Amino acid sequence: MLDDAPKLSSPTHSSVDTVFLGTSPLVLCHALFACTQGRSVAILDRNQCVGGAWHAGNALGFTNVEAAVHLIENRPEVYSHLERVGVPISDADVDCWGQYGHMRIPLAITRAVAFGGVLAKSLARGNFSKSRTNATSLARSVARIRSPFRYPVGGAATLLERLLSELAVFGVSPQLGVHVHRADITRDRRGGKLQTSIGDVHFRRVGIASRAHCPLTIDGEQLHFATRRTATCCLALHVDRCDEVRFSYVELLGRGPIRRVRNLSSLVQPTPAQGARLLSVQLRSPPSDGGADSNSDRDFDGERVVEALIAQRLLPPLTRLLGQHRGVYTHDTIADGELKRLAASLGDAMHPMHTTDFGEELTALLRRTESRCATPAKG
Ligand SMILES: Cc1cc2nc3c(=O)[nH]c(=O)nc-3n(C[C@H](O)[C@H](O)[C@H](O)COP(=O)(O)OP(=O)(O)OC[C@H]3O[C@@H](n4cnc5c(N)ncnc54)[C@H](O)[C@@H]3O)c2cc1C
Repeated sequence: MLDDAPKLSSPTHSSVDTVFLGTSPLVLCHALFACTQGRSVAILDRNQCVGGAWHAGNALGFTNVEAAVHLIENRPEVYSHLERVGVPISDADVDCWGQYGHMRIPLAITRAVAFGGVLAKSLARGNFSKSRTNATSLARSVARIRSPFRYPVGGAATLLERLLSELAVFGVSPQLGVHVHRADITRDRRGGKLQTSIGDVHFRRVGIASRAHCPLTIDGEQLHFATRRTATCCLALHVDRCDEVRFSYVELLGRGPIRRVRNLSSLVQPTPAQGARLLSVQLRSPPSDGGADSNSDRDFDGERVVEALIAQRLLPPLTRLLGQHRGVYTHDTIADGELKRLAASLGDAMHPMHTTDFGEELTALLRRTESRCATPAKG
């Protein structure tokens, strides 16, 4: 994990309309919409920094280092919404592409191929819920094949900062370092009580996300739900002698150890010295996890990763590694179908959030709320 970014604090809440678990940008978007509907809201996160998988912290002497390699799908409606809430979004990013061997492929085509691959895999495994999600993503990515990929100027931290300041307008700020141990729902499914590390919080609805959840009971009886544990391995690499590195985001197709790489140099502080870069690299799967795509521990080493990036012609041959920071992020995911099943069992007491894809869920959220509330417009 990266060192923590600055901490936030807020007063405690013992009774609210909707209490959200976690602080990933999607959860903050849901919380913001709940605020605009006039609900009282609390947001609790056991971490000491906001953002979940999107948090940006300190590493290798730099600040604003994103913990992972992120992409916001090319959905104009998502970018417009973010701009409306004041998130500055880059212009069309020409330095993003997919790569197979040495062949560069437009990123939109790469994404369609990736969704198609996951769709085929999930169909073959009989996972129809995942198949449906990926079929929708595939259809959307084909429909948007000509749309550019854009990213917040300043990175995920800007996105988080803006969402937090919009929430602050409603007097809401996340409480950090609070572990939610359990949610006890009443039989009539019209609310319940959270048991947390700072005491009980009564709620009418609890916001449960794909990767931000807790054990649940209905009138004292445990409600069982399945989660799947996976881990994502990322490396931050400080490299030099690579003046000509021009990409901002590359997705690598094929069987090599590297899945995607982002050039964080324009986001981090201080700006890397002349000829140096700060890169974030996501590996295909964590080392020694025994999975089908498993990397060896050797592949997890920064020197090896730099060699692989040179072989892919993403870095020049003389590139030198100055420092590396490794992170393995473990998450327990509730599959979409299981989350739907939970929402059906819990009725009004649960606010479900399918959060595994930012673009997909924000699009769905915008559609759902379009007719119900005005988006919190800026300017
Ligand atoms: C390495 C990595 C890269 C990714 N890249 C992308 C990407 O590029 N684009 C994209 O769309 N999606 C990406 N994702 C998917 C990502 O999971 C989602 O975008 C989103 O962050 C999921 O939100 P979440 O709230 O469900 O979980 P997370 O982002 O994992 O956040 C969970 C938060 O909830 C808190 N929490 C969990 N349980 C409790 C509890 N019981 N009590 C208190 N707090 C709790 C945790 O502390 C954490 O802060 C990536 C995920 C990972 C791990």
